[in-house]
Amino acid sequence: IADQRARLNKAAADFVAKPKKLLIDGEWVDAKSGKTFSTVDPATGLEITRLAEGDAADVDVAARAARRAFEEGEWPRLRPRDRQRLLLKLADLVEAHADELAEIEALDNGKPVTYARFVDVNMAVDFLRYMAGWATKIEGTTLDLSTGFTPDDQFFAYVRKEAVGVVGQIIPWNFPLVMAAWKLGPALATGCTVLLKPAEQTSLSALRLGELVMEAGFPKGVVNIITGFGGTAGAAIVEHPEVDKIAFTGSTAVGKLIGMAAMKTMKRVSLELGGKSPVVVMADANLETAIPGAAMAVFFNMGQVCTAGSRLFVERKVFDQVTEGVAEVAKSMKIGAGLDPASQLGPLVSAVQRDRVMAYIQSGLAEGGRALTGGQVIGGAGCFVEPTVFVDVNSSMKVVREEIFGPVVVAQPIDDIANIPAMANDTIYGLGASIWSNNLSFVHRLVPKIKAGTVWVNCHNFLDPALPFGGYKQSGVGREMGRAVLDLYTESKSVLMQI
Ligand code: ADP
Repeated sequence: IADQRARLNKAAADFVAKPKKLLIDGEWVDAKSGKTFSTVDPATGLEITRLAEGDAADVDVAARAARRAFEEGEWPRLRPRDRQRLLLKLADLVEAHADELAEIEALDNGKPVTYARFVDVNMAVDFLRYMAGWATKIEGTTLDLSTGFTPDDQFFAYVRKEAVGVVGQIIPWNFPLVMAAWKLGPALATGCTVLLKPAEQTSLSALRLGELVMEAGFPKGVVNIITGFGGTAGAAIVEHPEVDKIAFTGSTAVGKLIGMAAMKTMKRVSLELGGKSPVVVMADANLETAIPGAAMAVFFNMGQVCTAGSRLFVERKVFDQVTEGVAEVAKSMKIGAGLDPASQLGPLVSAVQRDRVMAYIQSGLAEGGRALTGGQVIGGAGCFVEPTVFVDVNSSMKVVREEIFGPVVVAQPIDDIANIPAMANDTIYGLGASIWSNNLSFVHRLVPKIKAGTVWVNCHNFLDPALPFGGYKQSGVGREMGRAVLDLYTESKSVLMQI
């Protein structure tokens, strides 16, 4: 495939051509070391551009700037309504640059540009607008108390909700712009200041968002963006004493490292980690929607979704019909570069990810799994893998147990519906699940037994900013979105006044 940069419209092309820097204290600066690294188009394997390679020295300057912005200057004096107004302005700017951001995302991540435009960019806008509203609705409580130590002692007590402070936000490569908006929204609504580290594979849309943050008029030092690698820039954010809280989205393995490192300075931590989400299809479901629904549950974004429906459980009497139907959907999807408007599935994000997914597919085949479709890498310099449907698997296989983060689903038949909770919960993860059935009583009885932060019924992967999102078990700590996220970005201060 030819250099995809040629497909960009002028706005995105101009942005990509500009030198890429770090955003620290309101200025775009090079890394102190002067080092840069390459960001690659996964459709072609060609370098798109080079990014500043931030490390501990840059993080230190940014953390101190974020601390100053939090304690002094304009930001702490802004009224909630002004924070709301700035967030709404940022949402408007993202919307005004929607096509450009979608092209940048499609080039850097590989996802089809139409999805980038109508899923990713729209979600980012929605999410910023939703969080803007919370800026003016953060409330504490008041209580009348008495200790009973003396007959007439009396206290007036209240609980203040205060911004947690400087927040380090480390995000992954699967939804780069959405993740940046998802993280910045609650931090800015509550009055925190931020060090944001995008994933090294996909930093471009976050850098463009950083320009829009400055254009919206956020005071300097409120949002700092450090591009660089996890082990250096990321680890430095987690360790920095001026950082009060870490919000991380990424793999469970890295989440554990970050959680443990953050405890050294007792940072507040919220983690959105991996999943191996079950999709349960009952024979009474409307199969005309359940089959494409189960297919999209796992193939959307090439399976690079933390809630990907990667374990498919189907009642035995419709097992062949559903699994063959999902395989047909897989075969019918057009695979190509994200910027090719005809593409329905893009490449995986990187050669590393392609090789990781292929190793899982090979392990599944070696352990006796049968691929109804897929199973092959698509040759050439791009990072393309065929969407793959495995049957003849059992619950001890690696492909069934581990998160693949690729377009691979493992299907198992349900022989006894009493076993559904045990089958669905037979995983270290607990992020998402979906149930496809028209039997409402059955669904309502099953939902409480599924250990997952989100259970979808007759749909999968739908998110709304008003709904808390997060994981049971090793899928994470805390709930983002909805009212719940405010708890992650505020401290409670109890005030007791003897009266
Ligand atoms: P993947 O392995 O799929 O690339 P990761 O969970 O490693 O996903 O990456 C998610 C984010 O975490 C990225 O921004 C990455 O740079 C960052 N990261 C990776 N390792 C560390 C680490 N040890 N400390 C802090 N951040 C890290």
